[in-house]
Amino acid sequence: MKKIIIVEDNRKNLELFKAVLGMIPNLEILAKENGKDGLELIISEEPDIILLDIQLPDMKGTDICKELRKMEKFFHTPIIAVTSFAMKGDKARIIEAGFNDYVSKPLNILEFRKKIQNIIEVEAF
Ligand SMILES: [Mg+2]
Repeated sequence: MKKIIIVEDNRKNLELFKAVLGMIPNLEILAKENGKDGLELIISEEPDIILLDIQLPDMKGTDICKELRKMEKFFHTPIIAVTSFAMKGDKARIIEAGFNDYVSKPLNILEFRKKIQNIIEVEAF
C-alpha cells in the first residue's frame, strides 16, 4: 500500500485529483486544504508521494517543499507541484524549491495519472 497526500485549496481540483488517483489500486489518498494543516499531516504520516498546490491561502507550496527538504525523512520523497502558472521561469523556480516534477492546471488527466503511476512503479523496485 502506498500513501499520497494532496494539499490543494480548490475543492473542484481536489475532487478531481481524488477521482483520478482513486483509479490506482493500493493507493491511500489523504488531503488537506491549507498549507499549515498539510505540512502537519505530511510530517506525521510520511507519505510515499506528495502533491502540493503552489498557491494556497496561507503558504506557498514552494515554501512547504523547502521546509520538507530540510528534513532527512523527506530528502527523497517524490514531491509534485500543482501549478496554474504557465509562465516561463516557473519551472526553474519549482525545481529550485526541491520539487521533482509539476502538473499544470487545467489538469491533463491521463498525463497526471501516468505520472503518479510511474512514480509508484519506480518506488516499488
Ligand atoms: Mg490554490
